[in-house]
Amino acid sequence: MLLFTPGPTPVPEAVRTAMAGPTIHHRTPEFEAIFAEARARLMRLFGMDECVMLASSGTGAMEACVTNLARKKVLCVNAGKFGERFGKIAEAHGFETVELRYEWDTPATVEAVMAALKADPDIDTFCIQVSESAGGLRHPVEQIARAIKAENPEIAVIADGITAVGVEPIDTTHIDALIAGSQKALMLPPGMAMIGLSDYAVARIGEGKGFYFNLASEIKKQRQNTTAYTAPTTLVIGLNKVLELIEAQGYARFYAATRARALATREALTAIGCRLYPKTPALSMSAVYDEEANTLRKILKERYGVNVAGGQDHLKGKLFRINQMGLIPVYESAWVLNAVELALADMNRRPYDGTASRVFNEIYFQNETP
Ligand SMILES: *Cc1c(COP(=O)(O)O)cnc(C)c1O
Repeated sequence: MLLFTPGPTPVPEAVRTAMAGPTIHHRTPEFEAIFAEARARLMRLFGMDECVMLASSGTGAMEACVTNLARKKVLCVNAGKFGERFGKIAEAHGFETVELRYEWDTPATVEAVMAALKADPDIDTFCIQVSESAGGLRHPVEQIARAIKAENPEIAVIADGITAVGVEPIDTTHIDALIAGSQKALMLPPGMAMIGLSDYAVARIGEGKGFYFNLASEIKKQRQNTTAYTAPTTLVIGLNKVLELIEAQGYARFYAATRARALATREALTAIGCRLYPKTPALSMSAVYDEEANTLRKILKERYGVNVAGGQDHLKGKLFRINQMGLIPVYESAWVLNAVELALADMNRRPYDGTASRVFNEIYFQNETP
């Protein structure tokens, strides 16, 4: 079965092998050396001033960013399940919240964010997804962050890049915290989250807040190549390996391949009559609006060995989402698009003529080189 959900993503064989060794103790020079290497690679991935790894799923890192950076009032962009989650986290911790709500296919705008900030001078923190996975949407995060910081550099900008870090280069100049998760673009098993931080964020964190998710404690320890509590050693070993694989081919090639896969997937889907759901699609996945999404997903799974994700909440049964993140062999993506076309033929939606596969290959190989 081909796992083509936008998280979890398949773990490359070399990474699985690297993680298969005996458990090593986390307070040893042996592990610290691996941690140091993984940390240096992570710093290169984020391109920010500081970074931390946390033993938690992505949501834990979202929570850590909110609790350690927010002061009083948080503005959240909610254009899907994950944007909604930022608001819930802030409320759970007693912060005041303002929500900018969008339909799940619609990106936030600089104007709306700036108007919301202007209307409420108490807002000190801004939260948004880079790629909102609920609808496969890309928000113009870099432009929004730039506008916010030009107006008020004291507003902390938290960007959830769980389906964006490792997908495309992100301009982090005006971002204070950028979140990544192990099981999405980084092709690892679930269980680790990573945060890139600006110098401003580190200063603002100060002594930190909370206990397990106190970012000041983690920053202090991780600068010494260890962690405040037991490190997820296996996942750190896996992270070091996966980033080594990416660095071996170079980020330019890695990002170009992801972009080519995204463009080719979109074009192939459109060519066989599928309707892309988001107005501004992310490179991490293609989300297709389809009233018969459940039937299609069932055929893909049972007949063609392909597992793609569905929709959530009001889009349950109306969306299917195809992953584009990670080191994906091109023949796997080509097969997935071909399988979608075959399934549509099985459903008597259109006759099979190989269009999806042809278009995918044409577009992919035109764009694959950086
Ligand atoms: C998957 C995902 C999360 C949540 O991560 P968990 O690991 O499930 O806690 C948050 N944000 C986005 C954009 C995601 O895709």
